[in-house]
Amino acid sequence: MINVFLLLGSNLGNRNLFLHRAISRIGQEIAPIKQTSPVYETQSWGKTDLPDYLNQVILLQTVLSAQKVLEKILAIEIELGRKREEKWGSRTIDIDILFYGDEIIKDVNLTVPHPQLHNRRFTLEPLGMIAPNLVHPVLNKTILELKNNLNDDLTVKKV
Ligand code: ADP
Ligand code: MG
Repeated sequence: MINVFLLLGSNLGNRNLFLHRAISRIGQEIAPIKQTSPVYETQSWGKTDLPDYLNQVILLQTVLSAQKVLEKILAIEIELGRKREEKWGSRTIDIDILFYGDEIIKDVNLTVPHPQLHNRRFTLEPLGMIAPNLVHPVLNKTILELKNNLNDDLTVKKV
């Protein structure tokens, strides 16, 4: 079984409901959810004029390949009404793979660990709540260390 950490984000419509529905579908389609972080509210990153996000990190244990997990999360995003329009535009749900065990993946359609996770407070705050001592396999630092070295001024608060 591989430990997989996913980041969920929603900044459109009933954001809490989209998080709940995503977790429920991930549990059915991919694997039972082992842990969920608290939900954090986050100023929109990149395009700061957009509505605030709710973010949450979840841990699952799966036998599926990373590509299969990606395929399934992209299908769940579409099912939950996500439309891909502008880059960094608002979305009902965004699901990203943060870690797939300690594997380093550089496929054309998939980079793991997620290439931005160490730069983003909205990822490290919820991730730090469920896996503070997890070691980033490329940077060789724990989540707690990455969080303490963070340069990100966006406001992230526990809901
Ligand atoms: P973003 O999450 O950066 O806002 P999208 O959700 O629109 O962007 O994702 C665009 C593409 O990013 C996906 O179709 C997927 O193929 C690719 N991708 C690469 N690495 C990852 C990852 N670790 N998790 C999720 N998607 C990824
Ligand atoms: Mg995404």
